[in-house]
Amino acid sequence: MSYYVTTTIPYVNARPHLGFALELVQADVLARHRRSRGVAVRFLSGTDENSLKNVLAAEAEGVAVQDLVDRNAAAFAELAKPLALSFDDFIRTSRDPRHRAGVAHLWARCAEAGDFYRQAYTGLYCVGCEAFYGRDELVDGRCPDHGTEPQEVSEENWFFRLSRYQEQLRELITSGALRVEPVSRRNEVLALIDSGLRDFSVSRSRARARGWGIPVPGDEDQVVYVWWDALGNYVTSLGLGGEGDAPAEDFQRWWAGDGERVHLVGKGVLRFHAVYWPAMLLSAGLPLPTRVLVHDYLTVSGRKISKSAGDVVDPAELVARYGTDAVRWWLLREVPRVGDADFTEERLVARADADLADGFGNLVHRVVTMVHRYRNGVVPEAAVETTATAELRAVCARAAGRVDAALDAFDYRAAAAAVWTLVEEANRCIDRTRPWELAKSERGGARSAALDAALAALVSACRQVGEELRPFLPDAAERIVERCTPVGGVLPTSTPLFAKLGE
Ligand SMILES: [Zn+2]
Repeated sequence: MSYYVTTTIPYVNARPHLGFALELVQADVLARHRRSRGVAVRFLSGTDENSLKNVLAAEAEGVAVQDLVDRNAAAFAELAKPLALSFDDFIRTSRDPRHRAGVAHLWARCAEAGDFYRQAYTGLYCVGCEAFYGRDELVDGRCPDHGTEPQEVSEENWFFRLSRYQEQLRELITSGALRVEPVSRRNEVLALIDSGLRDFSVSRSRARARGWGIPVPGDEDQVVYVWWDALGNYVTSLGLGGEGDAPAEDFQRWWAGDGERVHLVGKGVLRFHAVYWPAMLLSAGLPLPTRVLVHDYLTVSGRKISKSAGDVVDPAELVARYGTDAVRWWLLREVPRVGDADFTEERLVARADADLADGFGNLVHRVVTMVHRYRNGVVPEAAVETTATAELRAVCARAAGRVDAALDAFDYRAAAAAVWTLVEEANRCIDRTRPWELAKSERGGARSAALDAALAALVSACRQVGEELRPFLPDAAERIVERCTPVGGVLPTSTPLFAKLGE
């Protein structure tokens, strides 16, 4: 069983903002979690570089498109370090030799299926979305996503016979062969399918694209429309079409087998991932993704993140100020499974101080300090089990399963809460066993088996906190596990794990 997980690939007309960091971190948690459970994982991210948006941004700046694209793509790829991302592959659609060949291959397969036709077309086009809209889809004549008026575009394009796949798509989604989650998004997709799927334009004139993009195979006057091009990255990065007729090894392993193929996407691109992309694959005779997981958006101080309004929080800058752990923890612990979440720096600081410094950090420090004070740093063997330690061990035994279930339901907040439960239970165990009183009772008397039991159970719980925290906070988790691992038979002396950010 394999697990292939992808983020969407963002346009690179501007630098990355916090909203995209959410998707990167969510995908990273899934990848790390599956790896920690022994599953073979491939995690892909990348950048969408062949869009008209990038051309217009470069024109506005007076720089060459490739220069703008290279510069901004680097800013996305470089998020790997501050956000502690573990992607295995990063595809850049304008530069990667795998991509051009793969897109042409995908196009040829759909052409062979008879799913393209040329047609003159006039439509309302939103450059922000890189999509045509019907009048009924606009809100007061404006793009529902960007609030801008789309421009009328007339040209002859290649069209894809999406309408042909309507019934098949409905069946795949209702049967659960293609799972779209959460269920509200699945219902949204089914409603969209029921409203009737219209064929859509999959190319544009080379002139309007300023010559930027991948030429349509056999029609040099047209370039492949950005959505068609971008969606292909999920399979072109696996080498599809790259080796003549023989399907690439990576493609066979990650896309053609019985493993999971998971796309993480924002709610704004649901239609493209849950309707267009599966239809393209059906047409090409290729397997479909198994799950499309849809996240909502972040707002910043109550406002929608908007590059044009300048309300952009740069994730790398945020990490420079507060650290990787604090930023990841806020994204995972505070953002609900359904509904938008509002970011403020105050919330990030409050959450980090309460959970990281006062929660995880304080617990581990207390426990390690007690082992040093009462047992010279040597973690004792538990010869007995008390009610309190037995209950703590029982909670520990259930924690991994709770994390698994929450992440399988794409609920990061519940998964983080499951790890947090260990902290609460360990603190409760300390309150109930009162190790300092057990230590007092030892003075001049026999060694307390209850104290041994309490310390052993607490160190074990702290270590498990570290292990379960690995997918969420890889750096902090490593430090916690280190604190709980004896070196030469003795635990390292405790120093604070997290600085308090609010001071
Ligand atoms: Zn738009």
